Amino acid sequence: MIINERNKNRPYHLGKFPFEVLDKKLSIDMEEASHPRRTVPQDVEPHAGELSRAAKKYTDLFLSFRTGEVAGARAPVPEDLRRRSMDIKGGAVFLDAAHVGICRVPEQAWLEGHELPEHKFAVVLAVEKCRIPEPDNLARSWVSGARDEIAVSRAASIATNIANYIGALGYSATAHAGDITDVDIERLSVIAGITCRFGENVISPFLDDNIALAAVTTAYELAVDLPLAPVRYAGKGLRYWWGINGAESGRERNRRNKRLTHMSDYPMEQVRRVERPTTLIIDDEVPRVPKRASFFDRALQGDLGSRTQKERWRFAYKHPSAYGYMRMIQGMVPIQDGEVNTGADITKYSDPAANSRAIKSLSYALGSNLTGICEIPRYAWYSHVGKGKPVKPYHKYAVVMLIDQGYGTMEGASGDDWISGSQSMRAYMRGGEVAGIMAEFLRSIGFSSRPQTNIDSDVLHIPLILWAGLGELSRIGELVLNPFVGPRFKSVVMTTDMPLEVDRPVDFGLQYFCNHCLKCARECPCDAIPVTHTVMFNGYEMWKIDAERCARYRLTNARGAACGRCMKTCPLNKVPDVDGPLLHRIGSWLGINVMWIKPLLVPIAVYLDDRLGYGRRNPVKKWWLDLEMINGVAVKPLAGANQRDIDYHRKLNTDKEKIAYYPASAMPPPDQKEPCPVDRKAARAAAALLETPQQARERVAAGGAKPLHYIPTPPLDPANKTID
Ligand code: SF4
Ligand code: SF4
Repeated sequence: MIINERNKNRPYHLGKFPFEVLDKKLSIDMEEASHPRRTVPQDVEPHAGELSRAAKKYTDLFLSFRTGEVAGARAPVPEDLRRRSMDIKGGAVFLDAAHVGICRVPEQAWLEGHELPEHKFAVVLAVEKCRIPEPDNLARSWVSGARDEIAVSRAASIATNIANYIGALGYSATAHAGDITDVDIERLSVIAGITCRFGENVISPFLDDNIALAAVTTAYELAVDLPLAPVRYAGKGLRYWWGINGAESGRERNRRNKRLTHMSDYPMEQVRRVERPTTLIIDDEVPRVPKRASFFDRALQGDLGSRTQKERWRFAYKHPSAYGYMRMIQGMVPIQDGEVNTGADITKYSDPAANSRAIKSLSYALGSNLTGICEIPRYAWYSHVGKGKPVKPYHKYAVVMLIDQGYGTMEGASGDDWISGSQSMRAYMRGGEVAGIMAEFLRSIGFSSRPQTNIDSDVLHIPLILWAGLGELSRIGELVLNPFVGPRFKSVVMTTDMPLEVDRPVDFGLQYFCNHCLKCARECPCDAIPVTHTVMFNGYEMWKIDAERCARYRLTNARGAACGRCMKTCPLNKVPDVDGPLLHRIGSWLGINVMWIKPLLVPIAVYLDDRLGYGRRNPVKKWWLDLEMINGVAVKPLAGANQRDIDYHRKLNTDKEKIAYYPASAMPPPDQKEPCPVDRKAARAAAALLETPQQARERVAAGGAKPLHYIPTPPLDPANKTID
């Protein structure tokens, strides 16, 4: 079979493991309920080790939000309890739960004196523990004693998010994990059908004891699962090995587990490495720009008008699932910085290659999907952040990590419907967790380190992703594409002074691909993506998107929360693994390893991608409910939901570009607090100022001066001058 359709037909909320084929045994329910109650666990000290302590700090932070804020009115949720459970389970799978089940809470499952009588139901979930790095990897000593705490931290994060989501629907809910719990989570995991009891231990049929558990108790009525028949190794048969019902196969898990822990799930080592990014960057000419110039910040300041400003405030919270994500994202900011343990012995970290290997293993243990390392070029530091505070560069290296936004959910979505914003926020939240725990740990072993997250970053991520060898600039403008996950990621960065070995940029022929593919431009709902060639913008060669138009659409989209249609419809938005269609694997391998074939391959790939229907929605994968938060209450979306599929008949005018350009000289002063309205007419006219990459090369070779429009608008207050 050339195209593997099995996973396409697997409902998303069933998750990666085929629980549906395992035997069930109803009487287990009664047996578990009959065991005597447990008492409250004493304050458990985390395992010794700095990484355990860092993970525990984050666990405690997440669980400080464990009681969902209950909205003032109930959401119009379905009467059908199975559809409700599908939504809740899908949300847990989306957040990377390995298993999720739902049960009623028997009286005996409450810990002594901790009953929440209105909570009749429990959502129980399991997170898989990370792998232990190899014996010659420095990270082995960091990770091996901290696996439990890392997994508990992730489980606590997922449970807290679900509790907050249910709260936003108008129902009471509380998360339980680790030693902060009111329930016997193990007992609930058996009743909810995700583990089996053997003596004192509860075991996953697929992951043995390699799991951490968490639960959410709630007053929200849900359809429940049946307990499993306790059969040892029930999940590990041939059906699992071949990925029955489109579940993840044992073969794919085996492939991943055989890779060294500092390597990602994808063979980035096969991608050609080059000395410089494949798009021209004139390093000496790229200006440092203020955060105030990003269009999401400009919208916040009122530069795009009052409607966009108003929508900017609720943008991140437009869907109830994002409520929990945002509480956590904001909650992590105060602990991004911290004291460095200056008394630590750092002499054992003098080998940059060994350090880089260990840092990458740690990043994957914490949940990054792809990691690269680079030195931070001058221009990757913002000139100013906040209300105009100048930034003085303070670290040498960037550990750049990509968080996959999730292919399954993307399959079910149009890209600009009600789950779109949550896809972004989930990845940002996960990035904050990964980089936060990593930086906390590195500071404790003696290295100044800081997470640079979507909500609080002193660095621009795009140049760092390029220099760290994680992708090439694409037609989607200021967006890098990775050869394996395409554009389907969000980035997080951790800057540090730990001595590290850097990666080199990659060339997988994307420039040729994007030059001969216009799918993202064709499918963009507001024509923000260029249809012609690259230009020089602020010292970078790029397909410059109309960032203003894109931001306006994302912020004011009435039929969805944000937009990621370019990400959804790009032909590189695939999963080229053992379980994916053979065609993807062959195409991916040829595209990376046989570059000369590109002229033949790209037109076929672009044509087939359309004709095989990639970019359309797959209704089997839609797990979420279309809801819109208005004044703190989830309601049926007032304007409906975007129901777009691809339009391959749409013709684009490739002779004419309609992009508005806001180069450095047209940016607002970095410390201007009042609105600085955009001048779109002037921004369209700025097209005449832009050089082609060839013109820029010739000018530089001839010793020509830097274009004046590369010089940023100065601060209003000279005291806020940039510090280099
Ligand atoms: Fe267009 Fe949406 Fe992509 Fe922005 S995010 S460029 S509006 S498709
Ligand atoms: Fe490049 Fe095509 Fe993807 Fe756009 S859709 S980023 S042109 S490969």
